[in-house]
Order: sequence, then C-alpha cells, then structure tokens
Amino acid sequence: MSIEAPSPLKPYILVVEDEDSLATLLQYNLDKEGFQVSLCADGEEALILVDEKQPDLVILDWMLPTVSGIEVCRRLRQRTDTRNLPIIMLTARGEESDRIRGLDTGADDYVVKPFSMSELCARVRAVLRRIRPGLSEDRVRHGDLMIDRVAHRVKRGGQEVHLGPTEFRLLDYFMQHPGRVFSREQLLDAVWGSDVYVETRTVDVHIGRLRRALNTEANNDPIRTVRSAGYALDV
Ligand code: CA
Repeated sequence: MSIEAPSPLKPYILVVEDEDSLATLLQYNLDKEGFQVSLCADGEEALILVDEKQPDLVILDWMLPTVSGIEVCRRLRQRTDTRNLPIIMLTARGEESDRIRGLDTGADDYVVKPFSMSELCARVRAVLRRIRPGLSEDRVRHGDLMIDRVAHRVKRGGQEVHLGPTEFRLLDYFMQHPGRVFSREQLLDAVWGSDVYVETRTVDVHIGRLRRALNTEANNDPIRTVRSAGYALDV
C-alpha cells in the first residue's frame, strides 16, 4: 500500500527586476532551488502583487520604472502586514551600492550586480533562515506542536497526530505564520493553489478535520476562528 506523501509548500518569492534577461535567469534558478517564483518589472506592479498574495521573500532591484526599489522597500516597511517581509535588494556595482546602504532602506540584505546565481540563492536561504525559520527548516516547533516536513510527521505534546495531505499542508502553512489571521481565500491560494477552483467552504471542512486531529482531551483547540476574517494558529 502506498500513501501519497504531502509535498511541503514551496516558499514564494517575488522577483522585481526590469532587466528581462536577469529576471528570467533568476526565475529559472530559484525555481530549480525549489522556490515558487513570480516576476514583475516595475515598482507599482510589485506593490499590487504583494497585496494580492504576500510573498515569503522579495528580491527587489533598486532602479525600476514608475516606483523605485527604494520606495517600494520603504512603503512595505511602513505597513504593519509587510513590516517584516524579507527583502533582498539588488544594486549596481560601485557608488550606487554604497549610497543605497547609506540610505538605510530597511532591506534585509543587499546583493551587488553582477552576482552569481549560487551566491544569490545562498543569500536567499540565509535571509529566510534568519527571518522565517519556520519556512526553511525541516522540523518546526510551535508551542506543543511539532511538524517534520521530511518525515511527514506531526506531533502534539509528544503524541503522534495523523493528518491527511491537505490538513498537513494547512498546518504547515499555519506553522510558518503563527498567530497570523488568514482568510479562506488566502488559505485556498496558499494550500490548494490559485489555479485550482475550490469553494471557500472546502477550507472550513479541512479546518474542521485538522481541529479534530489536533484536539485531544488534554489539549486546547490551537486554531482560532476569527469572525468574518478567517483562521489563525495560536498555541
Ligand atoms: Ca533595473
């Protein structure tokens, strides 16, 4: 008998770069490294895309049409929902990169062009490890919950919990963002994928299953229902 192993969610990276050939190269290499990648070529579009679906990390070119990379970075830092969004800024060699560092834009890291793809991927992983440890580690703990992405196991208070593939992905997503409230639409996008048509009610069904699996007599319900907003994981 074979059981379909739930695949861990791929971290989602938004690449904002107006130089076509570099953008394509970034997409190819990040995709190969196991990231989900979206491309856009100007600052205004970048802000819209972040609103639609919040990335796990943004790679942001400094010189962009419409709204500059620095301005995009500043605006993201001013908003409460994106204040801690990991941002890696791409800068040109020389004077510009020194200047941009001096500007204190709030980026988490700077990579000077030209750079090697292996260097950039290493920086991406380093920033994600530092800012979003729940995303890049095989084993994540939160409260009395533990999820092992490699072994596909979940434990609560040391006791094994058996989850179906969808419930596993839901919990995985919640564990990456503990305490944050997600709407049903956001959960559908993240866990089922935006190209799949599923009714939002389906989310409630799977949340119900996840709750039943996680809740035992000794444990409280870790999933909070937020009226007219969605769900959050609180342990
Ligand atoms: Ca540019």
